[in-house]
Amino acid sequence: MTLEIPFQNSYAQLPARFYTRQSALAVRAPRLIQFNRELASELGIPDTPDADLARTFSGNDVPQGAAPLAQVYAGHQFGGFSPQLGDGRALLLGEVIDRTGQRRDIQLKGSGPTPYSRMGDGRAWLGPVLREYLVSEAMHALGLPTTRALAAVETGEPVYREAGGLPGAVLTRVAASHLRVGTFQYFAARRDVEGLKALYDYTVARHYPLIEGPAHLLAEVIRRQARLVAGWLSVGFIHGVMNTDNTAISGETIDYGPCAFMDTYHPQTVFSSIDTRGRYAYDNQAHVIVWNMAQLATALVPLMPDQAEAIEDFTALVHAMPDQIEVEWRRAFGRKIGIAEATAQDAPLIADLLARMAEGRADFTNTFRGLIDGTARDQFLDRAAFDTWEPLWRARIAQEDNPEAVMRAANPAFIPRNHRVEHMIESAVAGDYAPFQRLLRVLAHPYVDQPEADNLKRPPTPAEVVENTFCGT
Ligand code: AMP
Ligand code: MG
Repeated sequence: MTLEIPFQNSYAQLPARFYTRQSALAVRAPRLIQFNRELASELGIPDTPDADLARTFSGNDVPQGAAPLAQVYAGHQFGGFSPQLGDGRALLLGEVIDRTGQRRDIQLKGSGPTPYSRMGDGRAWLGPVLREYLVSEAMHALGLPTTRALAAVETGEPVYREAGGLPGAVLTRVAASHLRVGTFQYFAARRDVEGLKALYDYTVARHYPLIEGPAHLLAEVIRRQARLVAGWLSVGFIHGVMNTDNTAISGETIDYGPCAFMDTYHPQTVFSSIDTRGRYAYDNQAHVIVWNMAQLATALVPLMPDQAEAIEDFTALVHAMPDQIEVEWRRAFGRKIGIAEATAQDAPLIADLLARMAEGRADFTNTFRGLIDGTARDQFLDRAAFDTWEPLWRARIAQEDNPEAVMRAANPAFIPRNHRVEHMIESAVAGDYAPFQRLLRVLAHPYVDQPEADNLKRPPTPAEVVENTFCGT
């Protein structure tokens, strides 16, 4: 039976040069791995037998009303500009209006080649599909804006990567939209001002109906991205590929590739095997996002009647962003140590703890969670490093109403630890999905103590540490 999805497509109404219409390449033996029923019901997708879901979310069966297309965009990748990228292995099936009235994209990832595939095969293997499913859902449960995972399907076909043949899979993701900084760059780089204007109008109508003018749009995207990146920092998340094509205009986290959560705290932590210079290291993320917003600003300039004036105005907005990030960072980290509304005076107390954590090789997640139950000091190589900070902290939170409640809501007990994610992938490749299901279940409630899952709080032993994550495209 063909699945009935109430599509209401708008991107397909944009000029033809925004995308290429393209159908998915059918796969041999689609088998449903996971379906997000809660999200499906939010989207108005009816409950359906697994075999039908597998056919739809592998691309074998195109639902009524879908208008599959590959979007075109550009982007700076590790600082170098590519004037044309685009969905090389993804297809927008269409959009739906969710229960709250929001328009959401439904996109297949790993659905076969498109005109934008370049040398790629358009496919994805099981590992990155499960990683994105798990980590994006964990991110949502942590309370940070993100694309969501709707379905994961095994294709029954091998995908060939450096490691040889691997099981193929398709991820269905749901996004507020797939508009990227790189989408604006695409039209700006081609000096297609008409296209840029159409994109601007579309963006405003879809995401920012109240704004007036490109400067205002820029300011709003900056505001959302400042909050997002501070949110990442507050949970120890490292995106790994903050290229401008992976920076969403909606302010959602998008494109989970070689991402990872930090175990031991160190500000210069990098996981991605291709990020050899640490461009996207943990604490560089706050700088890179400003650089990415400068690229968005540049792409918006052609929309302005007075470009010299626009450059001045946009530059001021971009230059103000580090302070905004600082404010968001302080707010997020203030809560992590039990301060409901941290001020600039509280920043040194936070910074001092982080410096001691780095020095003491403390586990990021367990240290903050451990502030609640008194186990934080056990995370430090030298416990004295914590003990001399503690009285200063206690004195400060004595002025707070309910620091424990604030900390409980800001410090997750559970994050998708990288060694668990890697182990989950290895198990799935061997046919055992139990670790995937268990992680998914526990990470759906990261702020809740779950004694039966205590072993998932344990940092990796030296033998378990995963130093590198791979793009896994
Ligand atoms: P990413 O770094 O994952 O954001 O990907 C950068 C670009 O490479 C995007 O345009 C992707 O669509 C494209 N790409 C990544 N993997 C593949 C693949 N296996 N086949 C075709 N295109 C790909
Ligand atoms: Mg990408």
